[in-house]
Amino acid sequence: GLDSNYEFTDKEDIKNIIRERDSFGHKGSFGHSLLIASTYGMAGAAILATRACLRSGVGKVTVRTPHRNNNILQIAIPEAVLNLDSHEKHFSSPINTDDYNALAIGPGLGTSHDTAVAFIEQVRRTRIPLVIDADGLNILADHKGWIQQIPSDTILTPHFREMQRIGSHCTDSYSALTEAQEMAVKHSFFIILKGHFTAICTPEGKTFFNSTGNSGMATAGSGDVLTGIICALLAQKYTQTEACRLGVYIHGLAGDIAANKLGETSLIASDIIEAIPEAFLQLS
Ligand code: AMP
Ligand code: MG
Repeated sequence: GLDSNYEFTDKEDIKNIIRERDSFGHKGSFGHSLLIASTYGMAGAAILATRACLRSGVGKVTVRTPHRNNNILQIAIPEAVLNLDSHEKHFSSPINTDDYNALAIGPGLGTSHDTAVAFIEQVRRTRIPLVIDADGLNILADHKGWIQQIPSDTILTPHFREMQRIGSHCTDSYSALTEAQEMAVKHSFFIILKGHFTAICTPEGKTFFNSTGNSGMATAGSGDVLTGIICALLAQKYTQTEACRLGVYIHGLAGDIAANKLGETSLIASDIIEAIPEAFLQLS
């Protein structure tokens, strides 16, 4: 059976974690998320993460992205503020994050040398809650020593292949889980190992298994949506453990709601975003 280091997240747990929205709140009280995402040609990743973030209760979202993504992002997401990297096509220089409440970096980011150097500089100097996903993880896989420089309490969101790349020895889902658990404890990270039963591994050696989601969510951009949701929750001052458990649960529930309407076969990442409101309604 499961010992006390393993826990299953169900709807009651989530209802206990989720907080009511302050009636007297204003944009400032719900936090300001920063997303660093998307080379030119991969703007969709930033768009999906940003929309999901905005749907998850945050007060404000700023997206740092290369100059040429300006028009597409402004048109796609009128609610977002842009912080344009002076480079035309890729992330090339880190920014000061002191005025933000949470940072998510990686979706569609690219892994060129320039971007990798800017990435490690950015995360090294970041003091706010941090999520690393997608190409952020691929950069860590390309530069194995850099993992030592990632601040403690950072949330990493690998799927199985990304876990294989950042790790050293996993060959199947069981060894991937073991390696994620070891890495979480060793570096004081939160590692969300994504898949059918997404596992959240904490620095204390606990593992939470999620109970929502379906294989319709195995579709391009699905993970970017999760990153946006978690970044919104962190900006609203949920702890890392809470943001991981709540984020993964809501993401899966939104996927289930969307699949009930559209079927798993036709589900696309935007459908998950459109179901986020219904997911929050079911939990209130
Ligand atoms: P990514 O591969 O980064 O786009 O992330 C895919 C997302 O979809 C993760 O949150 C996975 O947990 C979820 N997902 C993928 N396949 C399944 C599945 N068979 N059952 C449940 N969730 C899934
Ligand atoms: Mg992904």
